[in-house]
Amino acid sequence: MAAQLDVACATDITDVILNGDQIEIVRPAIANKVKQRVKVNTPKLVAVVRAGAFEAEEGISGSENVVKLAAPAADLKAVIKEIVSDASGDIDLADADIVVSVGRGAKNQEGVDLVKALADELKAGFGSSRAMVDAGLMPHNKQVGQTGKIVAPTLYMAFGISGAIQHIAGMSGAKVILAVNKDPEAPIFNLADYGIVGDLFEVVPVLREEIKKVRG
Ligand SMILES: Cc1cc2nc3c(=O)[nH]c(=O)nc-3n(C[C@H](O)[C@H](O)[C@H](O)COP(=O)(O)OP(=O)(O)OC[C@H]3O[C@@H](n4cnc5c(N)ncnc54)[C@H](O)[C@@H]3O)c2cc1C
Repeated sequence: MAAQLDVACATDITDVILNGDQIEIVRPAIANKVKQRVKVNTPKLVAVVRAGAFEAEEGISGSENVVKLAAPAADLKAVIKEIVSDASGDIDLADADIVVSVGRGAKNQEGVDLVKALADELKAGFGSSRAMVDAGLMPHNKQVGQTGKIVAPTLYMAFGISGAIQHIAGMSGAKVILAVNKDPEAPIFNLADYGIVGDLFEVVPVLREEIKKVRG
């Protein structure tokens, strides 16, 4: 689209700064270690924002600002043959207000199912670290991180996830982070707002019970 309009394109934007007519954008780089501030050298910009980085303005539905452009279908090199939605019916990670994620600490299918039950009860999106995807225990579309999805929910719950920089790159934008890990030195605790040092196989059932009580 930017090429068609002959304007700049910037993705993964977390902030926009206007200096008179000059647009500047801010975007994370190098797995969230630094923030780039980039001057846009065209008067208009096609901007792709990072999920959850901006609050929607109240009272704006969005529909009134949509401009429909006719796509020159015949010129496209790629052709959309079919749009397949997530057949699992699970809550989309990018839209979820709560994301519950599972890591290698869950060990096996039994551990995955245990944490998934908590996610279902909270009506949360269910994600995972790459270790669980590599182990074949979770599908790739559930991977959170640098090479997975970037999420910014109100609450992110990490079970048995160490907190590798590549995982953090995908969830550090969460408003509140809860980590459960049996290793008190796990790096995830440096980022977490709340931490429970313990075995997730013991902690998850207790959490489920407590949540049930609170919800009456
Ligand atoms: C180029 C590149 C891209 C990558 N992209 C991603 C990415 O997008 N997303 C991603 O997640 N990773 C990514 N990785 C992999 C990343 O470096 C880590 O290897 C991965 O995140 C580790 O997953 P983990 O935390 O589940 O496993 P581990 O690092 O093995 O951690 C498991 C944790 O579980 C804890 N634990 C063990 N048993 C229990 C228990 N019973 N109860 C509670 N805690 C327990 C342990 O103390 C440990 O902290 C990438 C790596 C590379 C090189």
